[in-house]
Amino acid sequence: MRLTLRYGSKSAEYDVRESARLTAKLRIHVEPSGALVVEAPVGTPENKIRAGVQKRARWIMDHIDRFEDYRRHALPRDYCSGETHFYLGRRHKLKIIAEPSAMRSVRLIAGRLEVSAPVGDADDIKLALQRWYRQRALSYFNLRTARLAAELPWVEIAPPVKLLKMKRYWGSCSPHGAITLNPALIKAPVHCVEYVLLHELCHLAEHNHSPRFYALLDRHMPEWREAKDELDSLSEMLLIV
Ligand SMILES: [Zn+2]
Repeated sequence: MRLTLRYGSKSAEYDVRESARLTAKLRIHVEPSGALVVEAPVGTPENKIRAGVQKRARWIMDHIDRFEDYRRHALPRDYCSGETHFYLGRRHKLKIIAEPSAMRSVRLIAGRLEVSAPVGDADDIKLALQRWYRQRALSYFNLRTARLAAELPWVEIAPPVKLLKMKRYWGSCSPHGAITLNPALIKAPVHCVEYVLLHELCHLAEHNHSPRFYALLDRHMPEWREAKDELDSLSEMLLIV
């Protein structure tokens, strides 16, 4: 079944898939292509589906716009002024300052990423940015992990977070409780980062993906599935650079 959602001056067509897994609620995803997909419990009447989708219209349109943004701006790049790079889900324009005497440095000022570098070519700027992302990732992830951990009764001391560039994973948690995160996660929206951190912290209590593990996630972040869906769809784009 193909339906159309209208919201203000915007509209989006969507396919409805019937799902035997679902009991009461609709499941709504926006794919990286911008396609809207709706899963509904078998036999849900069309007016109920329309109403359920309409209720989330604003969220849906925001996500379609965001993915459009990602597609246009998160692809491999030239590292020149005016190009945009992501930090915590937001786009920032690069401003390159090439100065033979400059040390490589990056500053985030008023929504712009100012990169100073001695040569100022793509390799130079890429190196400066990579280093900056790693530093920001390390301090941000550790800070957020400590804050989250303080609310979780099973975590006595927040484990330190290490960074490791991975092709397919955002994070992992060892049986000894060491948390490793992908530095590229710092480019994802804040709620996606929170989801990954909470996921790994829940592994300190449950070292598997059992129903008990998911019950912990549900209790501490009821909307984690949406964050996961969003992150999954962004993975391809955020992990390539
Ligand atoms: Zn896991």
